[in-house]
Amino acid sequence: MKHLLAGLGVGLLGACAAPPGLVQPEAASGFTAKPGWTFQRQAVAAANPLATEAGAEILRAGGSAVDAAIAVQMVLTLVEPQSSGIGGGAFLLHHDGRKLQAFDGRETAPAAVGEKLFLNAQDEPLPFATAVNSGRSVGVPGAVMMLALAHRQHGKLSWARLFDPAIQLAEEGFPISPRLHTLLAADVALKSDPVAAAYFYRADGQPHPVGHVLRNPELAQVLRNIAAAGPSALHEGPVARAIVNKVRQHPALPGALTLEDLKRYQPREREALCFDHTAALRALRICGFPPPSSGAIAIGQTLGLLARTLQASAPLVNDLPSSDWLHSYNEASRLAMADRAQYLADPDFVASPAGSWSSLLDARYLDDRARLIGPTRMPQSPAGQPGGVQSGWAPMPEQPEHGTSHISIVDGFGNALAMTTTIESAFGSRLMVSTDPGRPGGFLLNNELTDFSFAPRDARGQPVANRVEPGKRPRSSMSPTLVFDKSTGELLMSTGSPGGAFIVHYTAKVLHGVLQWGLSPQAAVDLPNFGTLGGPLVLEQGRFPLATVQALQQRGHTVQQGELTSGAQALVRSGGAWLGGADPRREGIVAGD
Ligand code: GLU
Repeated sequence: MKHLLAGLGVGLLGACAAPPGLVQPEAASGFTAKPGWTFQRQAVAAANPLATEAGAEILRAGGSAVDAAIAVQMVLTLVEPQSSGIGGGAFLLHHDGRKLQAFDGRETAPAAVGEKLFLNAQDEPLPFATAVNSGRSVGVPGAVMMLALAHRQHGKLSWARLFDPAIQLAEEGFPISPRLHTLLAADVALKSDPVAAAYFYRADGQPHPVGHVLRNPELAQVLRNIAAAGPSALHEGPVARAIVNKVRQHPALPGALTLEDLKRYQPREREALCFDHTAALRALRICGFPPPSSGAIAIGQTLGLLARTLQASAPLVNDLPSSDWLHSYNEASRLAMADRAQYLADPDFVASPAGSWSSLLDARYLDDRARLIGPTRMPQSPAGQPGGVQSGWAPMPEQPEHGTSHISIVDGFGNALAMTTTIESAFGSRLMVSTDPGRPGGFLLNNELTDFSFAPRDARGQPVANRVEPGKRPRSSMSPTLVFDKSTGELLMSTGSPGGAFIVHYTAKVLHGVLQWGLSPQAAVDLPNFGTLGGPLVLEQGRFPLATVQALQQRGHTVQQGELTSGAQALVRSGGAWLGGADPRREGIVAGD
């Protein structure tokens, strides 16, 4: 196969029907083939056409990539309320042609909570859904403050201008998309919030139909205030009071959030986490988000361990990953998931192993770990000891996480970004904030604190690194990623995805698909999904032949099939142009010039 980065055209995969499968917190809504896109100068890839178009409009008006991302985020708050918004958090990786920056807008735990936040009176973990749909799960939102920080450094248009598309759409209304309708119909908890019930649902309890024009005058007003006054209009004053009241007056499980928590929130600028990688004989530098995200380390370990196996350069067979390759990938990622559970947490609270997060990506450490991968499934996949240092943490048990959106943008000034943004679960905590009961709509609050470990300690009392602590950021899997040519420094790719812990797999698949298998970004995103949290290997339902499943079972894998609803977006530099891909499992498109 001629390699994409040497100039291959755009690939196409046919549509296939949505397979019935596992119920996921953010449900599947079908598979719609996307054409793949090519632009010469600038491009925006986001999870909803209205949001993508708003970003492209900002670029055409002379805005920068960050300007466009802000417009996209504000429109997503309105049109993709299940996934992200001003009530949530985000990670933004930005490259201005020289400097790489990681802007951390992750939510924080309120000052008054402790490690027993998600335990009942008997010190047992609360049922997951009970914790999600509560005031306790709500962290201090960080996306807007983080975007304001990035805008101060990289904005070209005025902050207020970036809110125009969302304000206009919120006032005039937007047609409910098929995916939003599907998720509204599937959700049982959202209706118990009176503001959300009155906004999203009809009097008979059914969601408004697809195409129904939904107006959100309350969000328009909140956005107008933030446009005029900046993030303080969210973190102080009437909107902040409405957030705090909503959280503290939850009828079943109120939270402890205060006005002081909102006012004190600080976005962080962190150093991006980069690692060297060779694919298709090309030396690359792959950069992702450092802790509190586990994303870059888990992807770096998985790709690094895979590269040390015989299957590293195995080609696709009949356009699909082979069982041999999937075996090696699965074993590599089981080892990565074990280290993630052991070590990853907010770096402001938890020391890195052996004095550096990069110790988890050290070449000799990965050499040692790769020796654990054999021809059959390893019975156990324990965490390693980077630098030979024994960890004092107890591993965190896996918990569900879902409800997120990914944005990739390149502008004509040489800036590029990858931003993954979330309210955690589909529709977050299901708490919709309004400052005026007479005005329909509002915005949803996150449930990001359920990304902390519910169990703070193991049976012996050893603490889990990612336990709840006041002011701490919960561990994430979000993996906004930028890829560079190692020798020239040229930016080659921006990508990322939603999907909880499977974000790591969805992003690694797109990276390996483009960089090793030479696929267009669209074809790489289209590839069937696969991945593991350490236990069974999960394959996207109906996308792999029986022979592949059986060959994996013969190597000792427990194979499950399910709807793996990624939402990857990718932009790839090829032959002087930008190729774009958007996930057929969601509603994203790419636009540009
Ligand atoms: N809250 C998750 C995280 O930060 C993301 C959830 C999702 O993508 O569905 O890792």
